[in-house]
Amino acid sequence: MNRALLNAVEAADSIGLTGHIHPDGDCVGSCLALYRYIKRVYPEKTVRVHLELPPENLRVAPSFDEIETEFVKPERPYDLFVVLDCSSAERFEPAKELVEDATNVFVIDHHMTNTHFANDGVILPNASSTCEVLFDLIDEDEIDNEIATWLYLGIIHDTGVFKYPACTEHTMNIAGKLLSKGVVAQRIIDDSFYRKTYEQNRLIGDAVTRSVLMLDGKMIYSVVTLDDLAKFGAQRKDTEGLIDQLRLTKGIEVAVFARQDDVDTYKISMRAIDKVNVAAICAEFGGGGHMFAAGCTVKGDLADAITQIAAMVMLQL
Ligand code: AMP
Ligand code: MN
Ligand code: MN
Repeated sequence: MNRALLNAVEAADSIGLTGHIHPDGDCVGSCLALYRYIKRVYPEKTVRVHLELPPENLRVAPSFDEIETEFVKPERPYDLFVVLDCSSAERFEPAKELVEDATNVFVIDHHMTNTHFANDGVILPNASSTCEVLFDLIDEDEIDNEIATWLYLGIIHDTGVFKYPACTEHTMNIAGKLLSKGVVAQRIIDDSFYRKTYEQNRLIGDAVTRSVLMLDGKMIYSVVTLDDLAKFGAQRKDTEGLIDQLRLTKGIEVAVFARQDDVDTYKISMRAIDKVNVAAICAEFGGGGHMFAAGCTVKGDLADAITQIAAMVMLQL
């Protein structure tokens, strides 16, 4: 076991935790697993999790309610800030001042595009998830049912429920150990991953219906505008899962989904089957991620951006 994280925690009296903006399963899972672990093993220390409010489907264990969604500076700066599942300083924007004020910053991550923004940490680009990296940094004997539940959540979300190539024998061994801690797999998988609200299902169905094939059927693309969200009474985060549906279209190599976040701002999600490095394409637009799952934000003309993306995909096919 690598004790780097625990050494940093043991040297601190107050610890802040954060992850990336628009928190996903791995981000929430890793932050709350570490939060619970510190509370359990080091009850004398002060620990707080600062995150934007995550979507409700990620509420799989009680400490979800202990997330602090206001990024208020503490009376005294934190001795240690642990930043999880976050590839660059821009991605933890709301917590930036709190992190900068901290005496020590420790990063735990698995993004190949991580910018190494902190002095200390463990970044393993081949790991399935930040939760997998975190599992190897804590004492297995101290993992209780709730910590196991949060770690399991992160692993299933970042592996698409154990199917992406980054899901290895090691990942499955960890998942097995988490089951031995009493994790109720079906509940977590169905409630957090597959179950959709009525509004979400209608929005996803509509976006799939409007999707277009490009590059001789090798690329599929769809978009959800602010008007679409309003039409279905849906919120931004209700588009989660849409890209996975597009990705399952037979014959495609790349799926692209654009969600309008503001009049001229679009969040782009990209997924590749196994030929195209979409992290490299998203990096061209200031984003990043993993070889086969990446994202970026574009401002300005969406059609222009999609044309550029298609050209970059074509070069890799
Ligand atoms: P998404 O399409 O938002 O589900 O993101 C897919 C993967 O790319 C996730 O691992 C994200 O953390 C990463 N990602 C998404 N957007 C960005 C961005 N703007 N910058 C860096 N990484 C990103
Ligand atoms: Mn994430
Ligand atoms: Mn992750």
